[in-house]
Amino acid sequence: MDGHFDPFRKAASGWIFHCDADAFYASCHMAEDTALRKLPVVVAGDPKSRHGVIVTANYAARNLGIRTGMTLGTARLLCPEVVAIEPDKPLYRRYSQALHGILSQYTINREPLSLDEAWLDMNQVLNFNDDPRPVAAELQSRIAEMVGISVSIGVSVNKMLAKQISDWNKPGGITLLRHQDIPDKLWPRPISELFGCGPVTARKMTKLGIVTIGDLAEQGVAEIMHRFGWHGLTLRLRATGDDNSPVVNPRPEDRRSVSAEHTTAYDMAREEDILGLIGQCAEEVSRHLEQLGLVGYTLSIKWRTRDFVTHTRQMVSYAALCDTQNIFRLASRLWAQSGEKKAIRLAGVSVSRLKQPSQQLRFWDE
Ligand SMILES: [Mg+2]
Repeated sequence: MDGHFDPFRKAASGWIFHCDADAFYASCHMAEDTALRKLPVVVAGDPKSRHGVIVTANYAARNLGIRTGMTLGTARLLCPEVVAIEPDKPLYRRYSQALHGILSQYTINREPLSLDEAWLDMNQVLNFNDDPRPVAAELQSRIAEMVGISVSIGVSVNKMLAKQISDWNKPGGITLLRHQDIPDKLWPRPISELFGCGPVTARKMTKLGIVTIGDLAEQGVAEIMHRFGWHGLTLRLRATGDDNSPVVNPRPEDRRSVSAEHTTAYDMAREEDILGLIGQCAEEVSRHLEQLGLVGYTLSIKWRTRDFVTHTRQMVSYAALCDTQNIFRLASRLWAQSGEKKAIRLAGVSVSRLKQPSQQLRFWDE
């Protein structure tokens, strides 16, 4: 059984996890520099200026009343010692990859939602008779150990409920909501907390006397549809815990390119050495395309000269690129056309415009 979208799927057959890192940006900095762990830390747009706006605050800072969206000036009034750090996107990407790498070890059905959030369909690991909490706890401690950040996990019978509850016990929470818990635990919550219900809709609903999620669950579908349209209907279904949307893996062909590159420890000037390096990249790209079951139609090469200038060239291929020979032939032709005379420090090969090989070709291959 693979992870492809099944339009006839009725409902999840096992637990769905929604994993969400706690104060992700701040956590990355705290993992890099453990001295920050005990201090109030904020990530702010312009940490030098008191007008810099806070993007994320760690829990030590939140406990002092510091919030996202505050200016640093206000935060310093609450806590003069607050540590302000500039956002570091490459750092967050690196931690995000490490986090999603561990999540993908738990199930092949994983749908990333953002840098620090994903749904995991655990139906092949846990059915509804199993207690999902030990597995969630193990996942948390593995992420803490391998990545150095903490996550909260919502565990429920579908995607929306899992997402809805994952922040109820932050940081480091595991929140379980079974179908029968919905009236007691979900319905008393204010309508503004319902996933997808924006402030405008929440205000409009409150005016109509729909104050809690439970109030919305009791509304007639036709009435809600009349006043709030399809969006209202979706919210009304969510309020009763009704959601059959499947966890959808990102499809391999959504990848934009497959590439490989190598940096050399010394300047490389001899033609045969450079072609050797390009050949190595071509082989790696070919192997990766084969693993993904894809072919590509644009080939690029990249090289960096010893003065640290990076150059690229690309060409379109009318034949599907996937085997090493074809990729290497085009890559070495592009290299020859470049006329580069300087020594290089890096070479790379990339294949893009990826597609599934045509069915007809497959048919004749067999
Ligand atoms: Mg988060």
